[in-house]
Amino acid sequence: MSHAGRAGTHVHGFVNPAVHRGSTVLFPNCEARRDGAKHRFEQYMTYGTQGGPTHYALEDVIAEIEGGTRCLIVGTGLAAVTVPLQAWLKAGDHCLMPDSVYGPARSFCDGLLRGWGVETSYYDPCVDEAGMAALIRPNTKVVYTESPGSHTFEIQDIPAIARAAHARGAKVMMDNTWGIHHFRPFEKGVDVSIQALTKYVGGHSDVLLGSVTVNDEEDWRVLRGAASQLGQYASPDDCWLALRGVRTMAVRLQHQARSGLEVARWLGSRPEVLRVMHPALPEHPQHALFRRDFSGTCSLFGVVFQPRYSLEDLCRFIDGLALFGIGASWGGYESLCIATTGNIARTAGTGEFGGPMCRIHIGLEEPADLIADLEQALGRLAG
Ligand SMILES: *Cc1c(COP(=O)(O)O)cnc(C)c1O
Repeated sequence: MSHAGRAGTHVHGFVNPAVHRGSTVLFPNCEARRDGAKHRFEQYMTYGTQGGPTHYALEDVIAEIEGGTRCLIVGTGLAAVTVPLQAWLKAGDHCLMPDSVYGPARSFCDGLLRGWGVETSYYDPCVDEAGMAALIRPNTKVVYTESPGSHTFEIQDIPAIARAAHARGAKVMMDNTWGIHHFRPFEKGVDVSIQALTKYVGGHSDVLLGSVTVNDEEDWRVLRGAASQLGQYASPDDCWLALRGVRTMAVRLQHQARSGLEVARWLGSRPEVLRVMHPALPEHPQHALFRRDFSGTCSLFGVVFQPRYSLEDLCRFIDGLALFGIGASWGGYESLCIATTGNIARTAGTGEFGGPMCRIHIGLEEPADLIADLEQALGRLAG
């Protein structure tokens, strides 16, 4: 994918595509306009809201990374979650969401979606095929997945869940942000794959973008139709930043994943730590599934501290870190740490973690420096 979505010699030989900003799209005559822009998705290059060359370049790259045929770029990762839910759900339908789903996705289901007459139930992310089959109702139209889960990093058995869903006519959606580059959603039964490009694709904490990728023409028609009705759009300048970020994503990921594992293993060896929630560590409860379905890892994981520590202790540890920023999001070049205890909702009985928790993102700093920083901050845990 380091070469996908490039115009080759069409832009005067320059390596990168240009930023095309635009609302009006001009045509040479009425007939050409009636035919629309056959250039690309037949009926869709008629006006700026349908995207332009900069969007299409990014869509091509992301579709290739995800292994799908068509991709839609939207303004945020959260919009990439809500647009397909709106596209495939209507009043009277039922949606199944993993209990470990990204918090704002839960807010959307419990907020606007509920108001529109769509019911959501939350399921244990570690459900097996028979368990999922039992949860699906005649009006279940969407089985949503996110693997690993936000903050708690459960790996889902996506092929098993997809088999149960497809046997009963439900669409399988997946938030594949963590697995970008290492999880091939369409080979595992996913119909609609969601990315927060804000994370490793952007890579520099300076852009918000999302993508929705599909692998079927009818799915594309439904998705593109919903995005058009909603007026969803993303800035071409942001698309350009994401195109720039994606060229170096593989090497950043490789480096950050290795550093992340080193830091995670070190934390796992510390007496203050109850467990590290990192799917690539052998002690992770779904490590076998991870090995089966993922070709690699990224640098985002969780840490559960011993139950003797309070949330106050945990905050003293986090405030004592010098090299880690305290803030949301991840995938940039900088390391981050946030307390997750008290900040995450679990309603399907999967909310027992054993102690206060934080989420760590490892950036491009030297792992030895990060470990030294963590070590001095751990010294503050017990007051
Ligand atoms: C950050 C994130 C999103 C949302 O992305 P934004 O661009 O910040 O809206 C969606 N899903 C997951 C798993 C995320 O971590």
